[in-house]
Order: sequence, then C-alpha cells, then structure tokens
Amino acid sequence: MKGIVCLVMAFILQAGVFSGAALAQSASSGNAEPSFDAASREADSVFFRKMADDVLSSSAAYESLRDLCKNVGARLAGSPGMYKAEAWAEKALKAAGADKVWLQECMAPHWERGKAEEAWYTYADEKGKQQKVKLDVLALGNSVGTDAKGLTLPAILINDFSELEKRKDDVKGKMVVFNNIFNPKNLAVGQSYGESGSYRRRGPSEAAKYGAAAIMIRSVTASANDNHPHTGTTSYDSAYPKIPAAAVGLKDGDKLIGLLASGKPVSIYYRSDARMLPDTKANNVIGELTGSVFPEKYITVGGHLDSWDPAEGAHDDGTGCVHSIEVLRALKAMGYKPRHTIRVVLFANEENGLRGGNKYAAEAKAKNEEHLFALESDAGGFTPRSFGFTLDWKRLAAIRQWLPLFVPYGVYEFRNGGGGADIGPLNRQLGTPVAGLSPDGSRYFDLHHARNDVFENVNKRELDLGSLNMALLIYMIDKYGL
Ligand SMILES: [Zn+2]
Repeated sequence: MKGIVCLVMAFILQAGVFSGAALAQSASSGNAEPSFDAASREADSVFFRKMADDVLSSSAAYESLRDLCKNVGARLAGSPGMYKAEAWAEKALKAAGADKVWLQECMAPHWERGKAEEAWYTYADEKGKQQKVKLDVLALGNSVGTDAKGLTLPAILINDFSELEKRKDDVKGKMVVFNNIFNPKNLAVGQSYGESGSYRRRGPSEAAKYGAAAIMIRSVTASANDNHPHTGTTSYDSAYPKIPAAAVGLKDGDKLIGLLASGKPVSIYYRSDARMLPDTKANNVIGELTGSVFPEKYITVGGHLDSWDPAEGAHDDGTGCVHSIEVLRALKAMGYKPRHTIRVVLFANEENGLRGGNKYAAEAKAKNEEHLFALESDAGGFTPRSFGFTLDWKRLAAIRQWLPLFVPYGVYEFRNGGGGADIGPLNRQLGTPVAGLSPDGSRYFDLHHARNDVFENVNKRELDLGSLNMALLIYMIDKYGL
C-alpha cells in the first residue's frame, strides 16, 4: 500500500516538474543526446500519458479525414481530385501549426480509366442453352484498354506462373484467367498480398510473352463476403505487347473459375477505355516544425496523398496522411520544441508511379541533407500493433528498451524489417533508417483499392491510437536520436 502511495506521489511530482513546455525544454536542452535511464523513463511515461490525453480526446485527425474523403474523394495522379487534395493538404498542415508549408513538384504518370469497364462471360448450360453472366471488374491501374467494340475471347484458367510455363502453347489469342489465391495460411497478410499481387503486377506481361490477348485476375483480397473488384497498379515489361488487364470481384471470380475448372468452354467479353496520357505535374506537400538544436537534420513522417479512383482512399492512404499531420499537431499542442526538424510529407503518386517518394529522396541527396529517420503510415488506420524498422540491429536492440513505454498504448513490438514505399528511396539512396506503422491487418485487404475504402469504414479510436503511437515514436527518436 505504502509503495503504491509513493509511486503515485512520484508520478504527481514528475508530472509537476515535467509538464508542458518545461518538459519540452528538458528534452531539448544542450546538443548532446540525453541517455535513456530510470529518471528519463519516468518523465517519458508522463509525457506519453499527456500526449495520449490530448490525441485521444481530439477530433482533429478524424474530422480532417472526413473532409479529405467527402470533399476531395478519389485523387489519383493527374485527376482533378489530386489538385484538390494538394490544396487540402496545404491547408491541413497550416492548421496543424507547421512553421513552414511548401510544395515540391514532380512529374507523375497520368492514367485514366475512362468510362466504366464492361465484362461478361458466356457458356452453354446442361441443357445446351447459352448463358450470359455479367462480371464486376476494374481495369488494373496503368493498363491499356481495348478498342470501342471490346474483345470476345476464349478463356483459359491458369492457376499460377509455373502452370503458365507448362501450358504456354495453349494461351495464344486467349483471355488468361489467373487463379491467384490470397493464401489464408500466411500469418502476415502482407505476405499474401505480395504473393497474390505478383499476378496483378507481372501477370499481363507474363501472359503476353506467350501470346495471350488479355488477362483477368482474382481481386487481390481475402474477403469473399462482397463482390467489389480491387484495382492496383500493373507494370508492363517493354519486351512484350501491352495487353488489357482487369481484376474480377471474388464472388464473380469464384463462379467463373469454378466453371473453367470444370472444363466447360467459356468465352469472355471485355471492354475498357483505360489509357495512359502524357506525364502530368504533381506535388509532394510538405510541412515542417523547425528543429531547435539541429535544424539541418531531418526526421520525416508521412503517408501518400494519392488514392485509387473507385473510392475515397480512406484507409489507403487518407489515414496515413492524417496520422502524419496529427503527429505535428500533437507535438505542437504539447508545447514540445523538437531538437531536429520534423517534416510531414504527403507524397504524390505512390499508387502508380512512386514519383513523389523518388523526388523527395533525389532532392535530399542533391542538397546533401542529413536525414536521421523516416516513418511512414501506409497500412491502414486500424489498431496499431507494432512498428517495423529497417536499421542496423544494434540500434534496433537499443531502441527496444523503449518498448515498455508503448505497450499501454497498443504497440507491443519493434519488428526487424519494415518501412514504406515512399520512404524506401531515402533508405536506398541515403541510407536513412526507416520504419512503418503496422496496424492490425485482418481487415485491410477487405477494402484496399476497392470501392468500399470509404470514411465510414474508419474507426475514430483506432485511427487516433495510430497517430498517438507515431507521435510517441517521433518524440523518442527526436529526443534520444538513433
Ligand atoms: Zn497505400
């Protein structure tokens, strides 16, 4: 009992001593990095609690996400939504209290879906009667379309790339239907996404290599309780013809694949207006809190501003954008003066080009900037579980001492390996240590790149816990270095 009273007293004393600006000052006094010891652990736990009180009771991130989803909506590079999103980002960063906000221009691919795609298949039923079944499909991002009449092609089911090799003489002039299963046995859903997604990325050129005329894939998703197709970028190998490519909703896809697997002759009609236009101007939108001790050393935190055209880009990656802006707002609200310059970067064109991430790293390199660390949120706005780091194991081992401070707020692991697509170029070109927020992934691929990725599917508290843990990590890295 006495011990508990002592602890409570110590807590109150610490809270008094380290409140608000005083705490900020203690964290940023002098150039030497403070060491993480018992006293600082205590002070940090008080800071964590105060930050949690602020973030969990604020509606800033959630309302900002509502604004982005409902008033901007879809924002693929080159679309009118992209320009509206850039204006939204500028305004949001200023409102969060950035010392400086600016645009960093880059060129980006400009792909358009055009009029909605059309697809159906036909086959003869048991009585020999022709049946025509509509397919819910989305052209893959960056894919070519068909002509205005569309294509009617005999379909062939190919289960995987090794079967394609074996049956390469059978696919000429056909619609290849890939049965790219989203493996439920992988514990990390990202692994299933990577495996199944390789058919979306490489499938068209692998099939075109043997003369296929078009392809369809199962949507890269685990969820079979709806029929929404999931788009996402494909990339053509210039050695082979570019052929039209689309993703099919799982309910439709399973029926079609079942029919093909039974050996019935099936023919598929597909029409798409998709086309690639000349590159367009796009911008990374950047806001910063200028460092009080090392203004020339940078910590980057970000998400990507663009999103696929059929939805609002709520989880992908509206949540990552508002997570990052909330880091800045929350540090400001705490009166915290960062030692290093903290840059919030809302990257352009992650989805179908990565030009924003490449531009940011190229400019950092050209200016010889020193980047201490970069953090990305691009895995949804669900309950945070861990951070995945790409940095040398000694430094990872050192920062794992901080982990007990995070556990009450939901992050229980600092994993080896992780980062984000947009900050990958910083890591590869400048050697910057990077990390990514890993929320629970169980539901992410139910709505990833599909029409149900909307604001209503984001939970406020889960969103806020993500922002909070990111702000806490940025605070710790700013204070102790890496
Ligand atoms: Zn994303």
